[in-house]
Amino acid sequence: MEFRQSSKLSQVLYEIRGPVIEHANALEEAGHSVLRLNTGNPALFGFEAPEEILQDIIRTLPKAHGYSDSRGILPARRAVAQHYQERGMTDVDVDDVFLGNGVSELVSMAVQALVEDGDEILIPAPDFPLWTAVTTLAGGKAVHYLCDESSDWYPDLADMAAKITDRTRAVVIINPNNPTGAVYPREILEGILDLARRHHLMVFSDEIYDKILYDDAVHHSAALLAPDLLCLTFSGLSKAYRVAGFRSGWVVVSGPRQHAKNYLEGLTTLASMRLCANTPAQHAIQAALGGRQSIQDLVLPGGRLREQRDVAWEKLNEIPGVSCVKPKGALYAFPRIDPKVHPIVDDERFVLDLLLREKIQVVQGTGFNWPRPDHFRILTLPHADVLESAISRIGRFLTSYRQQ
Ligand code: PLP
Repeated sequence: MEFRQSSKLSQVLYEIRGPVIEHANALEEAGHSVLRLNTGNPALFGFEAPEEILQDIIRTLPKAHGYSDSRGILPARRAVAQHYQERGMTDVDVDDVFLGNGVSELVSMAVQALVEDGDEILIPAPDFPLWTAVTTLAGGKAVHYLCDESSDWYPDLADMAAKITDRTRAVVIINPNNPTGAVYPREILEGILDLARRHHLMVFSDEIYDKILYDDAVHHSAALLAPDLLCLTFSGLSKAYRVAGFRSGWVVVSGPRQHAKNYLEGLTTLASMRLCANTPAQHAIQAALGGRQSIQDLVLPGGRLREQRDVAWEKLNEIPGVSCVKPKGALYAFPRIDPKVHPIVDDERFVLDLLLREKIQVVQGTGFNWPRPDHFRILTLPHADVLESAISRIGRFLTSYRQQ
């Protein structure tokens, strides 16, 4: 008798940690060194946890061994509420904040609490694929709106509008964007919010990279631009505070909560069912948001992340047949491989072949629900010299690469 996975998982994909990983593991077991450029995990690339956060966790650990309130410990929720109040979301308070085991868990809960079978959620293409995966798993339909590479990867509002049906329940905004690095201007966000307003959509705004901004990029929170819409704003400590392994994130509910009592009860039920988020990591939130440690030094000119973003972008664009829009935020670049120069029909195979030949692991564009096999995502987290050599090896690999 064979035990099979639930059929609910048959359409669920999560390629960032997908099957190629098995091959990478096998290569390492065989003694090769693999450059893993697949997960946005700052700790893997020498980024240290801010000292204040570590000290606070160590100090509070002896008292953090019990379950907490399902929404999270009060001081951390207060710190999150205050953080958003200071940014102009004056009507949020502690009761509007839920803490989770990373943003990932909260994304899953927020979608699960909303979706009936067949309900549609508008999700960007390319996306951070968790959004599509959890929508599908919840019985919903992920409907992808295109982001336009020729317009700095901004969402195509006409495409989004054309994809709204009477089953559409929510729109997902990922800003700054993973995988493209786009940071949306106010007008684009207002366009999306206007559609949400006209079609009574809930807004899920994933802003986990809100502090990782380059050049003149300015981040606008969707919730601030649309206080009249029900917005769930997601963020956490994994990226800007470089402690992804602590699994600490939050969601803040804003807008007309009086029309969402039932939904919020559902979210509360889901929060209760998983008891609570990891308690020690909840303590880190207050230290992070109240502290002086900042990602600013890393993203300003001369900062490590900014320099690495520059190197990745320049070197990718030097590869014949490859072009890359300059990322304005986040930790990734999403280059295009011109199909006329390098015709790739199966980008998962491309990624696997690159891994086997050059021992470099990237993620194929279709893994981000991009509809064509002509992109891949690379991290901008490694040191500049590592990135430079990796990208030149990718270029060399492409020169002789042919798919039948
Ligand atoms: N949202 C986006 C856009 C991400 O890129 C990631 C992680 O890469 C997450 C959410 C999940 O973050 P967390 O570590 O808080 O679960």
